[in-house]
Amino acid sequence: MTGNTPDRVDMEKIVSLCRRRGFIFPSSEIYGGLSSCWDYGPLGVELKRNVKEVWWRAMVQERDDVVGLDTSILMHPRVWEASGHLEGFTDPLVECKSCHQRWKADDLEGDSCPSCGGELTEPRQFNMMFKTFMGPVEDDAAVVYLRPETAQGIFVNFQNVLNTTRKRLPFGIAQMGKSFRNEITTGNFIFRSREFEQMEIEYFVKPGTEEEWFDYWLEERVNWYVKLGIKREHLRFREHDKEELSHYSRRTVDINYLFPMGWAELEGVANRGDFDLSQHASFSGKELTYFDEETKEHIVPCVVEPSVGVERPVLAFLCDAYDEEPDKDDIRVVLRFHHDLAPVKVAVLPLSRREPLVEMAKDAYAGLRKCWTVMYDDAQSVGRRYRRQDEIGTPFCVTIDFQSLEDNQVTIRERDSMNQIRVPVSELQNTLAAKLAGEDLFVLPPGGQVWKVEKE
Ligand code: ATP
Repeated sequence: MTGNTPDRVDMEKIVSLCRRRGFIFPSSEIYGGLSSCWDYGPLGVELKRNVKEVWWRAMVQERDDVVGLDTSILMHPRVWEASGHLEGFTDPLVECKSCHQRWKADDLEGDSCPSCGGELTEPRQFNMMFKTFMGPVEDDAAVVYLRPETAQGIFVNFQNVLNTTRKRLPFGIAQMGKSFRNEITTGNFIFRSREFEQMEIEYFVKPGTEEEWFDYWLEERVNWYVKLGIKREHLRFREHDKEELSHYSRRTVDINYLFPMGWAELEGVANRGDFDLSQHASFSGKELTYFDEETKEHIVPCVVEPSVGVERPVLAFLCDAYDEEPDKDDIRVVLRFHHDLAPVKVAVLPLSRREPLVEMAKDAYAGLRKCWTVMYDDAQSVGRRYRRQDEIGTPFCVTIDFQSLEDNQVTIRERDSMNQIRVPVSELQNTLAAKLAGEDLFVLPPGGQVWKVEKE
């Protein structure tokens, strides 16, 4: 870490907020938890869905050159022979001869057990794929693996997609879904989980053009994060050196993020060359090629792969959004999420629990719920309710007070500036839609009508 390290938040604060507010819980917590597995609570599941949704929208739906796919987690065992995962998806492990704990050899500083100081065995290769059995008989012939990456589902469907979509190079196939890795070094909250979700694109290009597409995807992916609110100075590239490259990769650059524990991989962009298609062609005996109309030749495309989990961006978005500011004698905690990521878009807050205020508030709530994730909160003072919404990153609160009953206007209060405007109930939905889409909070389309702005 250099002296110029930008500010970063404490992991403890993020973990505690996630627990307290129902974003993330340890898996099977009532049984003491299961190491490196996590459950997403009511807010966490919305956040996670939003991350996947914005990725899918930007990477698949808004592009002409990428199509989606959803393949099964269990695949033919030969897939993992061809892909090299049976041989190469390993970590060297050592075991302590006294306490029998296992350690990743690469992570050890000394040559004795970090836990009890005991003597360690020689390193042994440990495969990180989870193994299970298919069908009723638990023998070698029934062994299958939980996929350690979603990419292979894409490669084995290359010809299916090509035949059914008639895509021309360059084009990509995207997939998101669960992956499993029996990680040895775990920790850092959801950063390294044993069960996680991946969002991967295999972008097929003409051989010889992969370097330029590689640069294109690096930039495209960084822009995606920045557009969603990650500070550019919290991202940087790390090039893998030759010894470090995965067995399939000709070049890999990690997009690193400044996590609370330091710079670490958020996403990887790899040039996989024609390794995967060639391997599967040779192991399956099927031709996995593309007919190039220009040269009238069958070619094996090369692949550029931007690959990311869902959990690491979730953690990065949480950390980058986290903010604290003085609030009288207290501290206001705010998650300044990009609107598209915020788990709850609007909170409806009636000033009192008395009729007919409640009826008006419930009506507004029912209308807004048809459009967005909306929360109704009528407990405690409005000030406290604003703080509760700030802490979970809700961009807008709608307050209904006694004056609303008379003038049919409600207050919209904005999370970041804490500015407030009053709008007619009839304009509420349109106003929120415009604001959530990123338009200036205080200018209403159409006609640019300006509403009165007040501070909270
Ligand atoms: P690391 O070096 O941190 O173990 P990796 O290089 O093995 O990661 P890749 O195989 O390149 O990771 O996987 C692509 C992406 O999938 C990563 O950039 C990360 O976002 C995500 N990912 C990989 N392993 C995990 C994990 N155990 N938990 C959560 N996300 C993961």
